[in-house]
Amino acid sequence: MNELRDIKSMLPGELEEAFREMGLPAYRSKQVFSWLQKGAGSFEEMQNLPQSLRESLSREYMITAPKVLRKQVSRKDGTIKYLWELSDGNSVESVVMRYHYGNTVCISSQVGCAMGCAFCASTIGGLVRSLRPSELLDQVLFSQLDSGLPISHIVLMGIGEPLNNLENVLRFLELVNDPKGLNIGMRHITISTCGLTENIDKLAEHHIQLTLTVSLHAPDDETRNRIMPVNRAYGVEKVVETCRRYYAVTGRRVSFEYAMIDGVNDTPRHAEALCALLKGGGFHVNLIPLNRVEESPLKPSTPENLKKFREILDQHGINHTVRRRLGSDIDASCGQLRRKTISAR
Ligand code: SAH
Repeated sequence: MNELRDIKSMLPGELEEAFREMGLPAYRSKQVFSWLQKGAGSFEEMQNLPQSLRESLSREYMITAPKVLRKQVSRKDGTIKYLWELSDGNSVESVVMRYHYGNTVCISSQVGCAMGCAFCASTIGGLVRSLRPSELLDQVLFSQLDSGLPISHIVLMGIGEPLNNLENVLRFLELVNDPKGLNIGMRHITISTCGLTENIDKLAEHHIQLTLTVSLHAPDDETRNRIMPVNRAYGVEKVVETCRRYYAVTGRRVSFEYAMIDGVNDTPRHAEALCALLKGGGFHVNLIPLNRVEESPLKPSTPENLKKFREILDQHGINHTVRRRLGSDIDASCGQLRRKTISAR
């Protein structure tokens, strides 16, 4: 049997073209696109299509529709965490956060992750596979449908490395930005990367107005090599230089994430080195209190060390914020729910 084509990964223009080749008028492709955007899980549900067309489409195409494997709602702040089951039985997480500027969904880009960061739960079992554009879109669509909260912002900060799945991520951006679809503006979308510099350059060529944030976590190669193996390929200088270039090409400032890890990257020496590295770049630093991961001995910095670190950044005029922790009562940090569910099986 032929493999069925993943219809939700197709752009409206491609769908129209494919329908034209089947001898179907353009409005049929628009009807189907609109059903898909409403979360239809089968052609049977598409009531304004003739039965014969529904049947012929289901012989050619498949429709992805994740199932909710687990759902946790934070009592503290209403953050919702979903564990989705994909059509092949794999699972990924998304988190819906309620900010004053709008509801934001944090989505996964891959099943597992190949990057191997020492503090991250997502990478423990390695990379299983990359998500398709439809599976990226589904996390937004179905989070919105299930929660009833209209989603206005997206961050690609869940499981996986988005720039290790660049082609599918770019296609997803086109889909989610489509006026006939969710119509979410690029300025409402953030991509977080561990700093794959070639792909940061490739992304820059598209001149997309999204926000790029880079997980730096250390100001020097020695420290970064210890916690982020990817640094052996793309050292800190190269990462920062690429971010300067990204800003020059796109006009969009890059921000850096810095998870504060007790005794590893949080000393005054590290703060000084960070200031020297970022000097004059107009960069923003987002300090993240480390979330403890059961499998890892790494601990969050003490409040005193965090305070001292911030003082040094202030002295050097380095713009920074400390990330608010949402959903801390529901394992809402990177890959933790998927990990727990896998190991309980
Ligand atoms: N691979 C991408 C996106 C996924 S991780 C990246 O590296 O940016 C999203 C963010 O969460 C990254 O900044 C990552 O370093 C951070 N993160 C992962 N595990 C964490 C933990 N235990 N505590 C705090 N931040 C963590």
